[in-house]
Amino acid sequence: MKNIAILCSGGDVSGMNPAIKHFVEYTIKKELTPYFVYDGYEGLIDNNIQKASYKDVSGIINRGGTIIGSARSKRFFDKKYRKIAKENLDKLNINMLVVLGGDGSFRGLDIFYKEHGVRFSAIPSTIDNDINETQYCLGVDSALNIIKNSIDAIRDTASSFRRAFIIETMGRECGYLALVSHLTSGSELCLIPEKKYDLKLFKNEFKKEIKNGRKYFIVVVSEGIKQDLSEIAQWFEDEIGIEARVSVLGHIQRGGNPSSYDRLMAYKFITYAVNSLLDKKDETIVCYTKKGFEYKSLDAITRFPHKLDEELISLL
Ligand code: ADP
Repeated sequence: MKNIAILCSGGDVSGMNPAIKHFVEYTIKKELTPYFVYDGYEGLIDNNIQKASYKDVSGIINRGGTIIGSARSKRFFDKKYRKIAKENLDKLNINMLVVLGGDGSFRGLDIFYKEHGVRFSAIPSTIDNDINETQYCLGVDSALNIIKNSIDAIRDTASSFRRAFIIETMGRECGYLALVSHLTSGSELCLIPEKKYDLKLFKNEFKKEIKNGRKYFIVVVSEGIKQDLSEIAQWFEDEIGIEARVSVLGHIQRGGNPSSYDRLMAYKFITYAVNSLLDKKDETIVCYTKKGFEYKSLDAITRFPHKLDEELISLL
């Protein structure tokens, strides 16, 4: 029997548990023996690795987060600890790894492979959707649904109190979450790092809208913009003449019930990841592109800084 392990590294996303469930079911179907590595690369170093079975994954498909934990590991940057990680895998005869994480995690893995030959297949998992070569990262749709529900709830109070709400989404340097939330929530304004803006240019239009009966404004802002949110709120109060509040959505965007789309994508990502290991493919990152699922090298995804889809930006 061949042994294969799964781990989660970096920020958790909703969709990891459906992926873990399918990993166990699919690997058993393929006559492999599945293992869990707990707490990311920390678990590899500390030998926190356990054989997995069907019963470990029953009742987890609807849960956010990850039952096997995720972590950032300072020690994994150090060659000495990567050697210990390899020894721990050798004790269990594990030579295949499936990793759910972001490009930072993939960099660590690639170094580990080059040093010790542990083959891997990686699944882009970050709500920021900021990994090159893949149009979709696991967890994005669940995060978008949470943001949508939050904006809908805030709209109720904004309209009752005649207020402007400045709502901050996650995304690091990438405006994807903010932009898609803006387009799908019908907000009045969206500010993202990828597009320069000047609030002054909106003044006449917004004042006219108030005159015509508008009671509230929703502004969706990506965390990557350089301006302080309190300044934007102040601008609405001073220049538009409407009371304003700031709402930072924060970590609620990461958790919660995985959406149907994330459950389906988790299923597909895992199938492609396990297949790539069985087929001994060299390109190790499972990407979802305009052509469907494709395998890409680490070099392909890290060669250039990430850029948000121009077509999406043009809709702003
Ligand atoms: P993400 O995977 O979400 O981008 P990070 O960039 O924080 O998250 O990386 C997650 C983990 O991957 C780090 O804590 C570290 O253990 C490992 N890692 C990242 N880069 C390297 C590297 N150059 N060498 C070794 N390990 C790395």
